[in-house]
Amino acid sequence: MAHQLPALPYGFDALEPFIDEATMRLHHGKHHQAYIDNLNKAVTGTALENVPAELLLKDLPAVPEGIRNVVRNHGGGHANHSLFWEVMAPGAGGVPTGPVAEAITGAFGSFESFKERLTAAAMGQFGSGWGWLVVKKDGSLAVGNTPNQDSPLSVGDTPILGVDVWEHAYYLRYQNRRAEYLQSWYSVVNWSRVNDLLRQARG
Ligand code: MN
Repeated sequence: MAHQLPALPYGFDALEPFIDEATMRLHHGKHHQAYIDNLNKAVTGTALENVPAELLLKDLPAVPEGIRNVVRNHGGGHANHSLFWEVMAPGAGGVPTGPVAEAITGAFGSFESFKERLTAAAMGQFGSGWGWLVVKKDGSLAVGNTPNQDSPLSVGDTPILGVDVWEHAYYLRYQNRRAEYLQSWYSVVNWSRVNDLLRQARG
């Protein structure tokens, strides 16, 4: 199969106590795997079989109509989760340094103000979806959200940090308390990786 589940770059229990082991096992092994399985089912045997999910999402109108929604939902799920695992790490969190710190201060005034905006975007996503920090085509930063598994790539933005606010991301430990989950999640944000992604996005 063309699309494969990426290995987690840390142990399932590595993000404890902020993200619990049982959630990580289910989220990675079952939810992410299901997006990959459904994406593979849709593209296997087509000309798009070996095209990375990110490239498919950047040009959804080019995807044949018969599989476009599957690619949007399950290709989106694959790409979004692949990013999500990378932008978390054990012993991370805190205040960013480097280019992303400067870019955040420039765009939002302060790190605290950025956190408030991203938290509000993630809290304000009704139902399932994602909160995002993206790089716009002009290289500037913006905060936003998307429903379901919609990717910022599909509207021309490059996501460099994303937080999953589907209930499957937090329900076992936090039940309905999305705000508490989000506050904890900042303790595992891998700013070093976000810096790499910012550099790549700005080319
Ligand atoms: Mn998820």
